[in-house]
Amino acid sequence: MNIAQRKFDTLVIGAGGAGLRAALQLSQADATVAVVSKVFPTRSHTVAAQGGMNAALGNVTDDNWHWHMYDTVKGSDYLGDQDAIEYMCRAAPNTVVELEHFGVPFSRLENGSIYQRPFGGQSQNFGGEQAARTCAAADRTGHAMLHTLYQQNINAKTHFFDEFFAVDLLKNKRGDILGVLAFDIESGEKIIIEAKTTLIATGGAGQLFRTNTNASINTGDGLAMALRAGMPLQDMEFFQFHPTGVAGKGMLITEGVRGEGGYLINAEGERFMERYAPHVKDLASRDVVSRAIAIEIREGRGCGPNKDYVLLKMNHLGAEVIKKRLPGIRDTCITFLGIDPIDQPVPVFPTAHYTMGGIPTNKNAQVVVPIGTGGEEAIPGLYAAGECACASVHGANRLGGNSLLDIVVFGRAAGKHIIDYLKTHRQHQALPDESIEPALQRLAHWETGASEHESSDYDKNVSVAQLKNRLQQVMEEYCGVFRTEDVLADGVKAVQDIKEQLKYAHISDHSSIFNTARIEALELENLVELGLATVTSALARQESRGAHSRVDYQQRDDERWMKHSLYYLQDNRLCYKPVRTKPMTVDTFPPKERVY
Ligand SMILES: Cc1cc2nc3c(=O)[nH]c(=O)nc-3n(C[C@H](O)[C@H](O)[C@H](O)COP(=O)(O)OP(=O)(O)OC[C@H]3O[C@@H](n4cnc5c(N)ncnc54)[C@H](O)[C@@H]3O)c2cc1C
Repeated sequence: MNIAQRKFDTLVIGAGGAGLRAALQLSQADATVAVVSKVFPTRSHTVAAQGGMNAALGNVTDDNWHWHMYDTVKGSDYLGDQDAIEYMCRAAPNTVVELEHFGVPFSRLENGSIYQRPFGGQSQNFGGEQAARTCAAADRTGHAMLHTLYQQNINAKTHFFDEFFAVDLLKNKRGDILGVLAFDIESGEKIIIEAKTTLIATGGAGQLFRTNTNASINTGDGLAMALRAGMPLQDMEFFQFHPTGVAGKGMLITEGVRGEGGYLINAEGERFMERYAPHVKDLASRDVVSRAIAIEIREGRGCGPNKDYVLLKMNHLGAEVIKKRLPGIRDTCITFLGIDPIDQPVPVFPTAHYTMGGIPTNKNAQVVVPIGTGGEEAIPGLYAAGECACASVHGANRLGGNSLLDIVVFGRAAGKHIIDYLKTHRQHQALPDESIEPALQRLAHWETGASEHESSDYDKNVSVAQLKNRLQQVMEEYCGVFRTEDVLADGVKAVQDIKEQLKYAHISDHSSIFNTARIEALELENLVELGLATVTSALARQESRGAHSRVDYQQRDDERWMKHSLYYLQDNRLCYKPVRTKPMTVDTFPPKERVY
């Protein structure tokens, strides 16, 4: 075979916060680490995170990790696994201090300790007064974190494959994952990267929806690779819509604006969240606020000529607070809306933001699959961390500020576990030629620039770009904030149809942009599988829980549905597994009605 081959102890696919935190742990322990990223590492979506990262430091209000754990379990609408949530919340304060020592320039209080702002769903004393738990570097926290982690990796001599596109995982007959087939985006040259352990850290799939806050690279490639390698995807029906995207455009206005005292108003100037969440108002969980906005608009109280958005008011905070704490938000509003939030409120609407579902993992970030007896087992040497993983710490709804925490806590956990694993697994396994075949075939399909298929009823003139637009439109219309049986069933058919058409679609035939066009096609193949996983799982779940809101089943149904869904590529099959309700050391938080 005439393909370049390289061998490493560990392969990390993805150079966002999760991948870089894991790689750092490993390089510092003298493992050889390859990090593959389709963009230059510091362009990964982590760079866009604004508001901050949760940890019960107690610098601004009294706090402790157990209260953080309670809020996260409640925020998850009781679908989160309580052992993983305990692990994350306990690890949070040390994780922040560790990042600070790496060099993350957190904002400060007068007394020099790390600044913390209130975010949605945070409380003291198990549901009492509002807590201030989110550690921030102004409104550019992810930027500060990602650049710091990258610099530390350079120092630790991590090996980077920058601007390489990972196509598919390589596995032997027994199902062990032995590496990945990738190609250099600039030259198109293929490479096989073999590794004793593999960590998938490819981020989320926000590009599934037309209006979203995500980078255009967030196409869920790692999730689709896992599906094709035979793994299930967990809880894909839960997709977070962030309440405050710039109306009509999608760019994120951080929850930190409401944390700093901003609030939402409708066309009547009413602070409507007082009706939906009397206690915490605008700082209720994201699913609750997104639904409230959608209802205000549906009932005719939206703002603007088409009554299709609400307003986020922050001018009362004063120029000084906005310039110091929310400078990036002010830039965004001036650049994209021509509005200075110091003078005027900002039009907002819920926008697709975060993939709660993903590759099922445990608290060591090992990928787990169900076994016959109802339990589950870890796949040796395979790990997933960050937004592509489902540990599950976010359950049916993620709390703001918990994802930056998740990526570093579980990136680090993966690194630690891999170091131990490598001690007893010193050799590379043989890579059989046939394990590379499926990935090569997938690539070859797009190599000619257009697919030839004689006996097709489908329109051969349809392009990849058109199909991507169609998919995003379908997902938004059929699987948005509110869902019903008929519409979801039509959604499944519509996505299946797009999947079929994609086989015959053509990509750009301008040879100068050939590789990027080919990547768009490969990414769309990934998105289509994830779209199907999402609508299929959403159609099956007959209850409303967290971000999954069924008009025809408005109540949460713990008796029938307090369980995780697992979706398999083969036959679009769904099965279910129990929520891990037992924490590591403390008592279980039993399900209660969720009010804010
Ligand atoms: C606008 C915005 C603001 C946010 N603000 C906050 C916040 O304030 N607080 C918070 O907690 N969370 C926030 N989030 C969520 C949080 O930022 C993300 O969930 C998190 O950063 C994801 O990190 P990650 O390491 O999992 O993936 P990412 O940072 O998305 O990185 C994914 C990596 O995978 C690589 N990759 C993907 N596919 C391939 C492929 N096929 N081949 C090679 N490489 C590939 C990419 O190149 C990239 O390096 C925000 C999200 C957005 C979109």
